[in-house]
Amino acid sequence: MTDVKSIAKLAHLTLTNQELKLYSKQFKAILGYIDQLSKVDTKGIKPTFQTIDNTTNIWRNDKVRPCLTQKQALSSASKTHQGYFVADHVFSPTNLPSSSFPRRRESIKSKEKQDEYGAILTKVDSKGTVGHKDLFCTKGIETTAGSKVLLGYIPQYSATLVKQLENLGLKTKHKLNQDAWGHGSSGENSDFFPTQNPWDKKRVAGGSSSGSAATVATGEVELATGTDTCGSIRMPSAYCNVTGLKPTYGAISRYGLIAFASSLDCPGLITTSAKKLKKIYKSVAVPDPLDATSQSPSRNKTKTKPIKTIGVPKEFLLKGLDPKIKTLTLKAADQFKKAGYKIKEVSLPHAHLAIATYYIIAPVEASSNLARYDGVRYGYPRNHFGPEAKRRIMLGTFASSVGYADKYYEKAAKVRTLIINDFKKAFGSVDAILAPISPTPAFLLGEKVDDPLKLYLMDIYTAPASLAGLPAVSVPCGFSNKLPVGMQLIGPRWNDLELLNLAEKYQQLTNWHKQKPNI
Ligand code: GLN
Repeated sequence: MTDVKSIAKLAHLTLTNQELKLYSKQFKAILGYIDQLSKVDTKGIKPTFQTIDNTTNIWRNDKVRPCLTQKQALSSASKTHQGYFVADHVFSPTNLPSSSFPRRRESIKSKEKQDEYGAILTKVDSKGTVGHKDLFCTKGIETTAGSKVLLGYIPQYSATLVKQLENLGLKTKHKLNQDAWGHGSSGENSDFFPTQNPWDKKRVAGGSSSGSAATVATGEVELATGTDTCGSIRMPSAYCNVTGLKPTYGAISRYGLIAFASSLDCPGLITTSAKKLKKIYKSVAVPDPLDATSQSPSRNKTKTKPIKTIGVPKEFLLKGLDPKIKTLTLKAADQFKKAGYKIKEVSLPHAHLAIATYYIIAPVEASSNLARYDGVRYGYPRNHFGPEAKRRIMLGTFASSVGYADKYYEKAAKVRTLIINDFKKAFGSVDAILAPISPTPAFLLGEKVDDPLKLYLMDIYTAPASLAGLPAVSVPCGFSNKLPVGMQLIGPRWNDLELLNLAEKYQQLTNWHKQKPNI
């Protein structure tokens, strides 16, 4: 990136000289890595911007018509005052240092650390059983997305998933810590404090749904919601020895979720077994009229079939994977084989491009989604974004700007198609794919946080399924140096339940998911 300053200006961010220098260096490394996309032959390949089925843009011509009168416009308002709507405040006065305008100049308060692992941001109701990642809007309960920009934000409505779980009798117990906006794989990008891994407090809990996995691991909650845009359910589940589901994109409603990367965001669930996940998934994977991308298996007429053949992608077992994780992954495949499944090697030849692809598409979508936080309509001013959010906003602004959009965004969208085609081909000969989730077990707090590219590279095994909108279940499969290791079972779109059946089968054969941290 030649001119970080002008990109910052485009992105409405003001940077210090020190930040400018640091970001210039980091962007050089990140874009240098992403440059591998330019060498990929994408002639004749259509770009993929959305993975939901059967979508077409429907346009209609604008029609000019008279607008409502003031009286008509106010007719359904619950409260009015002298011809205006009266709305409840959405920022809690108790969280504001003073009245609304002076607050912008004052320093803002941080959240108090609520537990010894830094997993809980807000305690809600001790009688509750479910914890929600702070990315989910919860009516009347502070929702920050792990960011100081939203400190004090009290939503007036709950996310569909939150409501669905309430309807199942699951009351909210906590709002849970996370990497701010979902940006991260370690939980260290929370604007408040990092989450520690209950298995070893010196280590990360994984991210971005760090608090969700940690609180399920400690038993503080039985079930937690999470979101997986690129591994944020699978990675922390693997690091904390819990079971997580990243559903098919579109299976669980995104309504009421604070958006990160809209074509990738998948709300999902984390708990202690596939059996429990299955039960809840069945109730919450229903189309939601409030989310235009929400669909259902029945609406898609996709025929799912029981899993008989499991593929292991050879590209996922190459250099860079911790040898013990490789052994445990192959051991799990062997256990399936002994249980009567057929195991086959498969190839996903473009999977190694998934990080470069993801780190263009996700920041482009994030920069657009985070543009609404202007300090006027929502939250604190943009200088309250943490370093990772600023990095992504600028990267995305750059990659979608005139003159660069073809080279980066459009190119990444075409490589996304190649990655999707690889899966389609693989699913021609196998019913599911078994793969590692992370190249290493939970790493030390502070080990990678100053080197964004190093952290991005941890997503190498989770990014392909995310880009393809596929379901994936994260299942504990052993230990490496006393640290939990997880594997993922990936399937064709809408095969979530088949994958959960397969995971349940594995959990009937093994006890890894029953192991608890010594706390
Ligand atoms: N590691 C991914 C990232 O940093 C995690 C994204 C997610 O799933 N929320 O973007």
